[in-house]
Formats: sequence, structure tokens, C-alpha cells
Amino acid sequence: MAMPAALRQTHAIVITNARIIDGTGAAPLERGRIVIEGDRIARIGPVADVPTPPGAEVIDVDGRTVIPGLIDLHFHIENDPKMALRQLSHGVTAFRDPGQWNEKFEELRRMVAADGLPGPRIFTTGPHIDGENPAYPADSVVARDPEEARLQAETSVREGASALKIYFRLPFASAKAVIDVCNARRIPCTAHLELLDARELFKAGLHGIEHVTSLGISIVPRIQAEAYRQSVLANNDARREGRYALFAKADLDGPEAKALYAVLRERKPWIDPTLAVFERRADRPPQDVKPETLPTLVAGFAKMKQLARRSAQEGARIVMGGHTEVPFAARGEAPWRELELLVESGFSPLEAITAATGTAAAFLYRSDQFGTLRAGLQADLVVVGGDASRDISAVRKTERVMIGGKWIDIAKYRTY
Ligand SMILES: [Zn+2]
Repeated sequence: MAMPAALRQTHAIVITNARIIDGTGAAPLERGRIVIEGDRIARIGPVADVPTPPGAEVIDVDGRTVIPGLIDLHFHIENDPKMALRQLSHGVTAFRDPGQWNEKFEELRRMVAADGLPGPRIFTTGPHIDGENPAYPADSVVARDPEEARLQAETSVREGASALKIYFRLPFASAKAVIDVCNARRIPCTAHLELLDARELFKAGLHGIEHVTSLGISIVPRIQAEAYRQSVLANNDARREGRYALFAKADLDGPEAKALYAVLRERKPWIDPTLAVFERRADRPPQDVKPETLPTLVAGFAKMKQLARRSAQEGARIVMGGHTEVPFAARGEAPWRELELLVESGFSPLEAITAATGTAAAFLYRSDQFGTLRAGLQADLVVVGGDASRDISAVRKTERVMIGGKWIDIAKYRTY
């Protein structure tokens, strides 16, 4: 080969004739080209404006869509590290586990290193910071007062947490102590709420919430909210059916909901709806449900979808969390189901993709590194069949996944 050594060294990958959705919310670019050098996007733009460097490996993806790698902000590793690699083969190049001990990620980190992969990019929060009688004892640390909460929060940050997660038995003053640690350490604070009012926590500085149901007691009259609180205080599991009843009754144009929207407009919190885990359908009822409760479950879920959409319209920043094990998704497909449910809730496919990419990276405080497709950022991207800007289910036709400039062995990880 007569190619100069300098060009051989900068072996570039070029993806050309792509419909590009860049993750910022911008309209798709038809006939675009992306030049990847090393682990980064070197250039991106219309085919006519972006030359192909000599010696580059050129991949023509005519008819397909390129999107940023998906970011799953609610992924539970539990005891199944292979699940993260299965999701990687589905286009999920980064995830946050919202409450788990560091020890649970050791096997995944070992597998990733053994395969020489740049990811998936792993973001951890440490265990849930919960109050007494924690909901998930094995995944939690218990804080009995604000000072214990502060110490547990500081310890998790010291051990590598890139966000902290408040769990729902934590009293208000202790939750505030965790939020204050996050602000001091410049990391985001998220929460699963049942007993505390999201409006008050957002005003106290909370950055975001997991589960649209965390807004439950904020959208019903106080007398109903208190009955729900007392039932969950008496028995953590009362939330499981109780929140559907709460949502089924809620008035999304009532005074409580309007007070919530005022806070959303002011604070612009991130909301990770995790709709897929709450999905209940009349045509495929869960086996353990009494027939007379099914209408409440279906009506409650419909209202959860409406509130997710309404929250976005009122200023919340919606992100995507698949929740790993959900009723209507096959193994590793929860993020795809979540994207479809966002679209069923009224988001455009483009808005759903933005939630799962650019906005999710912002909630990780990593917008300067990945999450959108622009020059200088990590080359984390997915090639999907068809036009994902018209049909979100195109993500199910994931053909290629790149993370940090490296193509993933999809066939291998689909067996995980
Ligand atoms: Zn969860």
C-alpha cells in the first residue's frame, strides 16, 4: 500500500448514507455521514460536507437510522451481569443502577475487561439510602436520622457513586441531608418516593425521580394522600396495588396536580417514568390478579402514561429507564418497551429517543462526553433498520452497536 503511515495510523471508520438522529431533539439529518477516529466522533454532517478520509473503512447504511447509544437510567443488575451485555447488544451503551452495592458489579467489570470492551458504561449510586423497615433490606443502607443519612451519602460518594438514590422510607430531614451531599459533591440526586411529597423535595433541591408513581401523593387531595401514606407506612407492599388506585382516582387538572406543575416549571427536574414496569393490560391480565381489580390497574396505568406526558409539557425533563424485568418485554428488551410506551403516551419517536440519549446523559452529568452525536464526543451509536423517527419500534431492528469507536459482537451477546 502506498498510503502514508500517518493516515494508516488514524484508521477511520465512516458510516455513510445514514439517516442521523443526533439525540439533541433536532430533526433527523437525511443522507448524513459520520467519521469516527479512535474512540471519538471526528466529523459529522451531510454527505456533501464531510469527506471520507483515504483508507477509511466505509459502511453504507442506506435506508437505516443511526442514533446515539441508548442510556438506561434504571437498570437493576441484581445477580445477572450478563443482562447488561444482552442489553448492550440491543443498543444500550450506558446504564445507571439506581441502588446496589459495588460488589454486584465486579463480575460485569471483569467480563467487560476480558472482552476488551469500552463498556457498557456503568454508573452506580451505592445502595438505596432508606429509613427504618427498608423496602429492600439487601440493597439498602438504613439511616435513622439526618446525620446518619449524611454519613451514608458521603460514604457512597467516596466509594464511587456518581449519583445517590433516596428510598421511600427515608424521612424528609434525612432526604434533605442526602440532597445536600449531592449538591456539595456535584452529583445528581434521585429518589423513589411513596411517602414524601415530590413537590417539597424538588423545592429542597432534589434533581430527579425514578418512577412516575413517585408523583402519586402529589396529585391527589391530602385526605387521600394521607390514607395511602399510612397504608404504606404500615406495610411496604401496600404500594403495589395502592398506587394504581391512587392514580385511577387522580385528577390531572385538579389543584394538587396544578401545584405540582408549577414546581416542575420552576425546577425542571428529571423524571424517569419507568412505565414498562407498571404496564397492565386488559387483554393480557396478570395471573395473580382478581378480576374485579383489573379495571383499576388498567385505569391507573393509563393515568400514569398521561402524567408522564403532561409532566414533560409542564417542564420536566423526561429520561428513559427500562427497569430490566418488566411484564411485557422479553429478556433485555425492557428499554425498547419503555421507548414504545413513551410514544404510546404521546411523545414523538424523536422525543422518546432524545429522552433515552441526550437528556439521559444530562441526568448523568455527562453531556460533554456522550449521549449525542457530535464531533469530539465518544462514538457510542446504534444502527437500526428503517426510520426510527417515524416508527420507534425500529429500535428492535438493531443491526450494529458501537461503543467508544468499537463495534460490539451482537451475535455473541444476544445469547446472554
Ligand atoms: Zn427499580
